Amino acid sequence: MQRYDRQYLADSIRAVVSELRVGLSQGGDVREFSADDVMARVHERLAAEDGSRPRRIVNATGVVLHTNIGRAALAADAVEAVRQAASGAIDLELDVASGRRGDRESWVRRDLAALTGAPAVSVVNNNAAAVLLALNSVAEGREVIVSRGELVEIGGSFRIPDVMAKSGAVLREVGTTNRTHPRDYAEAINERTALLLKVHTSNYRIVGFTCDVDLSALVAIGRERGVPVMEDLGSGALVDLSSFGLPREPVVRERVEAGADVVTFSGDKLLGGPQAGLIVGREDLLGRIADNPLKRALRCDKMTLAALAATLRIYRSSPHLSSELPTLRWLTRPPEEMEALGKACLVGLRTALGPAYDLEVIDDESEIGSGALPIETLPTKAIAVGHPDRSADAIAGSFREADPCVLGRIRRGRFVLDLRCIVDASELIPNFSGAS
Ligand SMILES: *Cc1c(COP(=O)(O)O)cnc(C)c1O
Repeated sequence: MQRYDRQYLADSIRAVVSELRVGLSQGGDVREFSADDVMARVHERLAAEDGSRPRRIVNATGVVLHTNIGRAALAADAVEAVRQAASGAIDLELDVASGRRGDRESWVRRDLAALTGAPAVSVVNNNAAAVLLALNSVAEGREVIVSRGELVEIGGSFRIPDVMAKSGAVLREVGTTNRTHPRDYAEAINERTALLLKVHTSNYRIVGFTCDVDLSALVAIGRERGVPVMEDLGSGALVDLSSFGLPREPVVRERVEAGADVVTFSGDKLLGGPQAGLIVGREDLLGRIADNPLKRALRCDKMTLAALAATLRIYRSSPHLSSELPTLRWLTRPPEEMEALGKACLVGLRTALGPAYDLEVIDDESEIGSGALPIETLPTKAIAVGHPDRSADAIAGSFREADPCVLGRIRRGRFVLDLRCIVDASELIPNFSGAS
């Protein structure tokens, strides 16, 4: 009763007693009714409920941006900004100099505009919200032209045709799955057309006999006919990843320079910040977005904005992006560093697992994740964990049940721990007590 609320405790005890009663009425053993047995069950139940809070996971999957475990890890400055925003009052909507009401996007506006070259910006809950809000603000009740090759579905029920329908805009498909030509767009434009939409095919590639209309060609058509062009970039990068030796992903600034009137992208994919949807582009169109009542429903909270502001500050001002941003640090991790870390882990893992396990540092492939660059993989180092009598699934289960939970992956029938996102050797040596 020192640890738990009285009513909560009473409810838990009643639930346990009721379970025992049901068990007994179905022929259970009355000897289970000692006070110690009942209390043990109550403790078990309370511990299980305590354990239903967020659990730390060691990401040994090799997927740097894994949606199921929270995508990007924040930079240290962003974590500190969240802590500060969460723990007390801050100038969220207050202009400290004048003492008047301020605007909650003021923390991010200047840096986001400078980093993307766009005159106006807006931030919402995630990129799905950004697409919904932009379509609703610019094209409600009117037509939006999209290539059939770009009717993307992102995991978790984001589908362009469905978001379009909810936005109140009318989808006008043109071209075919593999080929869409400039004339397909040009011929579909009419007095009801509000927007030409390009969607980055983040999580798939169409290869073979293909052709699509690149952004500058689409912008040329839009300019000629007076129709704005929007691009959903999905991940979108603020810097050119190829300058870090990584596969290239579209850079937001280049899309703005190529003439996109509105560009939307995620905060927690390659950008490496918190979950957010970023909208940048033309002043008049962003003005319509700002005035839309939906914007209020989709806006970000103070912790998200604090984390995003700190992340953008790093992009804007730091000369050491790849050491400050965990996402970039992990994507660019040198193999020698991972190999040394793997060797350092072997000793501790042998002790934790016992002699029956085979452990080996191997070459493997990591993924970027979140649908970014679906085809390209990054060469990595991993530890393969085998056992003569245990399946890869069973070993994976033991690592998941350990404290903290270690999430690896199964590769060609073996359980492997990818070292790419592991910071310290001790992370991979979990406590297996309670695990089989
Ligand atoms: C990921 C993605 C989205 C959804 O972004 P969230 O931030 O996850 O809501 C939308 N469009 C494209 C092309 C994407 O890749």
